[in-house]
Amino acid sequence: MKDEIKWGDFDKMRPTQIEEIKKDYPIAYLPWGAIEYHGRHNPTGLDTHKTAHLCSLLAKEVGGLVFPPISLAANLIKSYPGVDFPNHSIEFSEKLIQLICEEYFEQLAEQNFKIVVLLSGHAGEPHLQILRDVARDFNNKYPNKYFWALAEFDVIPDHLLVANHSALGETSLQLYFEPETVDLHSLPKDREISLEIDAVSGEDPRSSTAEHGELIVNSFIKNATEKLGGIIKNYI
Ligand SMILES: [Zn+2]
Repeated sequence: MKDEIKWGDFDKMRPTQIEEIKKDYPIAYLPWGAIEYHGRHNPTGLDTHKTAHLCSLLAKEVGGLVFPPISLAANLIKSYPGVDFPNHSIEFSEKLIQLICEEYFEQLAEQNFKIVVLLSGHAGEPHLQILRDVARDFNNKYPNKYFWALAEFDVIPDHLLVANHSALGETSLQLYFEPETVDLHSLPKDREISLEIDAVSGEDPRSSTAEHGELIVNSFIKNATEKLGGIIKNYI
């Protein structure tokens, strides 16, 4: 029989509760999102909600402590070349993103977490690469610990999800997690969807469904759990 999995939200627990979980599951989940314009059909915090939900589901499956989401990102649609969406995003510098990530990782290492899972809901570049690079540096610095920085699409097959902005994939996930925040009717019915007008990069979001979102989520949880199982064998 499988032991009871222990997990919780780090910021909702008292110290003894945290230590009770951490002694068996020294795994920290860092959901990393953004405040970013996601077209008229999706909320600005889509990346944050997506990663927060996925981290909680993963922790439920694997065990560990979920940190509050970080809604700080660089390389937003606000500064995509050739598009004009100056509003509804809050963008930070690449340097600051790197620094925050380093300071989080350093303190998580000091607090004896052995595995840190940073799930980035935002895939702008080099934002995502910066997080991956910091993880690589910390893996070199702490060879007995493992820092895993990923985006959800890293572990999901392409036929279900590829990197996208407010397209079929992200919109389906948002419909699955928080359907009341999505308004598909705000998308045009009489023309092609475009990046320039609709802030959509990727497949047509008009066919998004919660059911498709659920398939993506299930695939993520299955594959990320498997991968984490291997990491746990080596590091815990
Ligand atoms: Zn997004």
